[in-house]
Amino acid sequence: MHLDIDRVLLSEAEIREGIDRVAAEVTAHFQGREFTVVSVLKGSCIFASDLIRRIPIPLELAFVAASSYRDGTESGELRVDFLPAGNEIEGRNLLLVDDILDTGRTISRLAQEMRSRGAAEVSSCVFLDKPSRRTVDCHANFKAFEVENLFVVGYGLDYAGRYRNLPYVGALKESVYTAASGEPEQTGTV
Ligand code: 5GP
Ligand code: MG
Repeated sequence: MHLDIDRVLLSEAEIREGIDRVAAEVTAHFQGREFTVVSVLKGSCIFASDLIRRIPIPLELAFVAASSYRDGTESGELRVDFLPAGNEIEGRNLLLVDDILDTGRTISRLAQEMRSRGAAEVSSCVFLDKPSRRTVDCHANFKAFEVENLFVVGYGLDYAGRYRNLPYVGALKESVYTAASGEPEQTGTV
């Protein structure tokens, strides 16, 4: 285990099981229909690449990037950095894939953006869901795991850009963020 990790919340084996289950649900939902997986960068890149390899029906892959800026309050600005091309959205069934559904701002804003650009269906699939933190009325159609209200890293999720490459999900030692900027603000590229 990495020295900065206090405890492992989801092991590699548990992650594999959760992804098998959610991949089967997504497969059943889109059976017989064309769809595009839209991976929200950067955090979902690992989850999305493991997920799509367990979905045995035809799909396309696209990417979107968003950044959130918080000023110490709960009301942060969300900026959409880039979107798929218009013809990858219009009339298409989209599955937004993100690392974690926290306040809900990212997923709800991106879903709204896709709908306003003419997507036929927009659903969402998240690796982790933290329902206790929701500030926007929004839910994920598919989720691999629910987690308690803890700042987690690994398997794509970062703290200050680091730890995305850990193969498991863990809670950071408090000393890591007290030595840096204090509270783990969820700022920067999601
Ligand atoms: P939202 O609040 O918009 O639902 O989530 C926005 C982003 O905040 C997520 O995509 C993720 O990058 C970040 N985030 C929320 N909770 C956590 C967490 O526990 N750990 C990490 N590393 N990032 C988080
Ligand atoms: Mg992040």
